[in-house]
Amino acid sequence: MIEIQFWWLAILPIFFGAGWLAARVDIKHVIAESHSLPIAYFKAVNHLLAGEMNKAIDIYIEIAKNHSETIELQVTLGHLFRRRGELERAIRMHQKILSRRDLSESQRQQSQLDLAIDFIKSGLFDRAEKILHDLSNTDSARLARVELLAIYQQEHEWQKAIATAELLRDESNSFQHEIAQFYCELASESLIRNQNEKAINELNLALKEHRHSARARLMLGEIALSEARPDDAIEHWLKMPAQDIHYLALAARHLIAAFHSKNQLADGIALLIRYVQQYPELDVVDLIYEQLLATAGIDAAYDFVRERLREHPSMPGLKKLLDAHLLVAPADQKSELEVIGKLLHDNTRSYSMYYCSECGFKTRQFFWHCPGCNQWETYAPVRGKSRSVV
Ligand SMILES: [Zn+2]
Repeated sequence: MIEIQFWWLAILPIFFGAGWLAARVDIKHVIAESHSLPIAYFKAVNHLLAGEMNKAIDIYIEIAKNHSETIELQVTLGHLFRRRGELERAIRMHQKILSRRDLSESQRQQSQLDLAIDFIKSGLFDRAEKILHDLSNTDSARLARVELLAIYQQEHEWQKAIATAELLRDESNSFQHEIAQFYCELASESLIRNQNEKAINELNLALKEHRHSARARLMLGEIALSEARPDDAIEHWLKMPAQDIHYLALAARHLIAAFHSKNQLADGIALLIRYVQQYPELDVVDLIYEQLLATAGIDAAYDFVRERLREHPSMPGLKKLLDAHLLVAPADQKSELEVIGKLLHDNTRSYSMYYCSECGFKTRQFFWHCPGCNQWETYAPVRGKSRSVV
């Protein structure tokens, strides 16, 4: 026992010595590294933090001249050129990186991705697509497919978009909304070519992918109406589930037309009134008012908007009521009412636009695919509201 304890005592200083030596070596290495980093590098970082990208880039270019061996510096510069919109310079930098012989496999793949993104931003989709395809059997395949999906959507290559989204599908993202939308886009193209049957098949595929696809239901109804099948059309539109019922507003005018073609216009208007009583946000009040005015007269239209305002007070509702008042007001009161109407009009202008819940892009026209942020189904089918509040 005693011999073993002595042996430990003898070896302890060696352990301490080794630790001290290792620590010394590490410290020396760190000091050497920090000396090799030019002070300018930190200045550039400070400029970046202060949002002064141009000043940072100038410094990085200077450093890169003297430290051409540093890949990370070239990568940073490539990103900064792209951020500043200097796409040609970004492309040259990424091509320069890719020509190096000392790249690791992951650095090569990252630089290929970077170059592809430069090409996408420059609108050179063919060149980007080729690079991204080359990455399809690498560790970067998923990232490459995300970029490919963006290209196919911009190029309206919907079949390729469907195939790519199916490859990207995993437990965190089913892509069912996107794929259903791609089938709807295919159907829109078929309809432009008067290929109704093909369009119906594509819309059924959309429903197979996403059985609550409101857009597919709306389009199937529109096709049925155009083929003089008003009952089928109405059936499609009324099949929309409660959570998507607000999309019915997009088909409301067609719904009225379908009832009109069956000589049952009053039934159609009554149906819409029942819906708006059940779903107060349903954006059909203007249409019902207009239809009542044309078919049942000013009193019926006035009673309807007054009732709506009582049940669901809103600025657009008040504006509508004033419109109805103006139609029957005596001449000496009209100018006062018109002044109030103008004020209300200025205050309700924002209620006449559709809003993207992702990027806030506003537009008079409803979009399934936001032109501002390229996201799908981000617009509520209710003017003056973003999707999250419907
Ligand atoms: Zn948007």
